[in-house]
Amino acid sequence: MLTCTGFSAEAADRPLARTVFQRRDTGPRDVRIDIQYCGVCHSDLHTARNEWHNTVYPCIPGHEIVGVVAEVGTEVTQFRAGDTVGVGCMVGSCGSCVSCRDGLEQYCETGFNPTYNGQDPVIGGPTFGGYADSIVVDESFVLRIPEGLDPAAAAPLLCAGITTYSPLRHWKAGPGQIVGVVGLGGLGHMGVKLARAMGAHVVLFTTSPGKKEDALRLGAHEVVVSRNAEEMAQQANRFDLILDCVAAQHPIDDYLALLKRDGTLVQVGAPEHPLPVAVFSLIFKRRNFAGSLIGGIPETQEMLDFCASRGIAADIEMIRIQDINTAYERMLRSDVKYRFVIDMASLGEA
Ligand code: NAP
Ligand code: ZN
Repeated sequence: MLTCTGFSAEAADRPLARTVFQRRDTGPRDVRIDIQYCGVCHSDLHTARNEWHNTVYPCIPGHEIVGVVAEVGTEVTQFRAGDTVGVGCMVGSCGSCVSCRDGLEQYCETGFNPTYNGQDPVIGGPTFGGYADSIVVDESFVLRIPEGLDPAAAAPLLCAGITTYSPLRHWKAGPGQIVGVVGLGGLGHMGVKLARAMGAHVVLFTTSPGKKEDALRLGAHEVVVSRNAEEMAQQANRFDLILDCVAAQHPIDDYLALLKRDGTLVQVGAPEHPLPVAVFSLIFKRRNFAGSLIGGIPETQEMLDFCASRGIAADIEMIRIQDINTAYERMLRSDVKYRFVIDMASLGEA
């Protein structure tokens, strides 16, 4: 067994704190990674606090992992010691169902194995995420970080990047389309950058008027303050696609009303409670209300390569792991510009 150090939540109402824990040894198909950076996703907070009602404790969050390969198993073919690599939200899936065969492991018919709060297939017990010094992952779920991407700013691409890239590609965001992005947080700011890079006309919806300048700098063509009813009314029936990246309760009908005929609102934000929808928001104008979950491994590699070729990465604020609980509180106040990334070297500090 591999003894690791990390930060864990021991219960929903307890702050994260330092812990020592065990991972499996590097198996024949495994890659052991020394973690350098880990992004802080709102899903980490939802899970640490059991807001999705399925958390197994102790819980070590973190699924935006970048590090350097320390060791590879005897059957590993794609990676070598010294490579800069990434791990996102998944560390396993059945590999044989129709979704896995299509490279859509996130929709595995038997359920994918999440990087944390999953099940370790070798030693049992929960999987532990990237708020830690190292991780052991099957090579099929390890991504190559292209040269030219800053490793710290690349970490959030492993979740925030792919979660916005995948629906933008699926619904064919591009020239001639008007794409709305709701919420300028970790996901939203990647959605703005990626939709712009794909050639769409991008409109950012925010509850924070103070983020207007940033949104324009990040690539939005227009910014709408969603708490202003007049500004919202002016956007009616206009959008081909809206990507909703909000982590809390908010009125979906207000955004459905902005779609043109046959337009689609894709929910990627995953608040704790249901989001009610009035059927007439959909029936008139044949609108679609859809969801999308992260992205498959092949598409995640495609996204990383796309970002490297366009010079796109996250705008980050680097933190020490000792500041993780403060970072969670700031995330709840929408006070993130625009992704916290943990410098894992801080784990060695007192
Ligand atoms: P985040 O950084 O906290 O950003 C969320 C943003 O939502 C905030 O910055 C804020 O933007 C806006 N917001 C917050 N409270 C709001 C409210 N009450 N009403 C309206 N807007 C509000 O979170 P994130 O890491 O981007 O994650 C966003 C959500 O996506 C989370 O629920 C997360 O679990 C989920 N997620 C889903 C997937 C997937 O596969 N579908 C993957 C990753 C994450 P403004 O200040 O601009 O309003
Ligand atoms: Zn995430």
